[in-house]
Amino acid sequence: MKQDYYDLLSSDGWLMRWPKKKFPLRVYIEDGSNIAGYRPQFRNILLNAFYSWTDASGGKLTFTKASSKLESDVVCTWTKTLNADTELPSGRPNAGASFYEEFEEAGTGNINILKVRIKIPVRRPTDGLIVTDGEMKCTCLHEIGHALGIDIHSPNPSDMMCRFNNAFKVRPVLSVRDVHTIQRLYSTFD
Ligand SMILES: [Zn+2]
Repeated sequence: MKQDYYDLLSSDGWLMRWPKKKFPLRVYIEDGSNIAGYRPQFRNILLNAFYSWTDASGGKLTFTKASSKLESDVVCTWTKTLNADTELPSGRPNAGASFYEEFEEAGTGNINILKVRIKIPVRRPTDGLIVTDGEMKCTCLHEIGHALGIDIHSPNPSDMMCRFNNAFKVRPVLSVRDVHTIQRLYSTFD
């Protein structure tokens, strides 16, 4: 088995990455207490998921708390469920959704990510039950992976970046292949 799925990242002709000057990325997390089913620990689970990607990147990809939504690079919002018409273009149940809201071309085959919005549902897409802490951790790790430029899904169900129907079943930790992939994507950051 290959040690990463880096080759898939540019399968659409583009490699997406945040430019080095943007780090640490300023993260704004909206208050979720008005969402039915939201639990206070979800915020910490989300924060820890960002730090897991920092660790995976060998400390290269860093995050800081944004002072306001306006002055942020990554906006995280909570929702009861995703809107099936506008947020699930593939028609399959997703655990969350990430949107590249601002980006720019950065030379042949490269795109600089400039702003991302992550939408995290507190209920499972399949049966509508409130997610467990472990499932929430999966959703957060997976969506942050997209936010960092992993704009594809791994075909391997043991990777956190696999298609999400499977991701709830795996242990809520990044796989070795997830780690190798993000390290290769940002290997020019030294
Ligand atoms: Zn996904």
